[in-house]
Amino acid sequence: MKPFVGVRELRTDLQAKKYSAVELTQFYLDRIADLNDRINCFITVDTERCLERAAVADRQLASSHPQPLCGIPIAHKDLFCTAGVRTTCASNMLKSFIAPYDATVVKQISDAGAISLGKTNMDEFAMGSSNETSYFGGVSNPWNMKRVPGGSSGGAVASVASGMTPLATGSDTGGSIRQPASLCGVTGLKPTYGRVSRFGMIAFASSLDQGGPIAHSADDVYELLAAMEGHDPQDSTSARVKETVLPTRERRYVIGYPESLLEGLDERIAERIQQARRQFEALGHKIEVIELPYIDAAVAAYYVLSSAEASTNLARYDGVRYGHRTETSEDLLDMYCRSRTEGFGLEVKRRILTGTYSLSVGYFDAYYLKAQKIRRLVRDGFLAAFESVDLILAPVTPTTAFEIGSLRSDPVEMYKQDLYTIPVSLAGLPALSLPCGFIDGLPVGMQLIGPHFGEGDVLAGGMAFQRETDWHEQHPSLDEPSAP
Ligand code: GLN
Repeated sequence: MKPFVGVRELRTDLQAKKYSAVELTQFYLDRIADLNDRINCFITVDTERCLERAAVADRQLASSHPQPLCGIPIAHKDLFCTAGVRTTCASNMLKSFIAPYDATVVKQISDAGAISLGKTNMDEFAMGSSNETSYFGGVSNPWNMKRVPGGSSGGAVASVASGMTPLATGSDTGGSIRQPASLCGVTGLKPTYGRVSRFGMIAFASSLDQGGPIAHSADDVYELLAAMEGHDPQDSTSARVKETVLPTRERRYVIGYPESLLEGLDERIAERIQQARRQFEALGHKIEVIELPYIDAAVAAYYVLSSAEASTNLARYDGVRYGHRTETSEDLLDMYCRSRTEGFGLEVKRRILTGTYSLSVGYFDAYYLKAQKIRRLVRDGFLAAFESVDLILAPVTPTTAFEIGSLRSDPVEMYKQDLYTIPVSLAGLPALSLPCGFIDGLPVGMQLIGPHFGEGDVLAGGMAFQRETDWHEQHPSLDEPSAP
């Protein structure tokens, strides 16, 4: 057995009994045992239950109709509730929280036969771009242990990039699947808002949060999306749309190219995106230069809106019903204050404070309302572009993986990491982040953005690119010490 194997090969091997689901699960558990101390991808490894489930999967594999992901291991970001296994959101506040039910996404993936290996590390409450805000410590980038994997789904992408699991779930509010996927050289999709149920996914900013798949290739992302998507009556913003289908014939797309976005971008990254553009042209797709207005205001609008929503979503952690409760308090108010002060980390507090501020009387119009207007303008800009193009090709991140600690003391610099991912989030669009090259041994990614519910074309575009390139088939060499 070897790591970095895709879903189709795993499925064929399992069905041909080349190895059993128990052996495969044990293989990944061994790899986690070997590597997790160095990379810190997993907060919880569910050893016993995953082996039990793998044994059940082996019985199903012997039947004539095994489920599509039968026996294939997966790791869940630690904000998807899992009955019986703790869900911490990488926070002291929830460090011993055990949900009484599974998130819809977790249930659907388990019904599809996949085996959950455990829960992956992340930025606390999904707030961050480097995984450094986790209560359980940072995650290293498998390509260079001194660098961040990105965030907030840092543990999820690093677990896939290091071959500790073939599949992982993540969540993306302003870039948390796409940015780390780009920094770690894996493929990840932020689906259209409403495509994937949010029931049982711990809320950060409810109008933006969206769960999505992370894997080695667009093919595998598609396989996992099929298990995750679908209407859920328990999520009021879940969309009633048909499942994602790939176009039956290879299509030639008109791909929008927002050239002005590349100005000011690190030249080497811009060069990789230009090279991808040429590859698409060589494949017969047509490139059309487009303008996307108001992009420069998107980051500011996002941090006003997402923090406002976070401040209300996180009001429920008061130490009364669940979550951390202080040991010492004088009265009820003091208990709330101390529980929250002790339970939340610095970045989460910063968001709660700024969010509460922008929602308060006298500031609402100047901040929250204005940010909502910008959101609408950004969305309208994309919709106008999609009148003449099928997909949009864009950068994911302004830099490659940065050094651990280098941006920690400068939140605004950290927020700028999300420059290219946030506009897509504000517009609620689907976008695939996929590898398109390397700079000094570190991966670079690009985004293929589609119109609402255009995942089929976004994935088909990614698959076409990955048939011609092998960036997604390069893996870090974890046996040797990483480069300085
Ligand atoms: N980095 C962004 C933030 O800190 C996005 C996080 C996310 O998508 N969950 O808010």
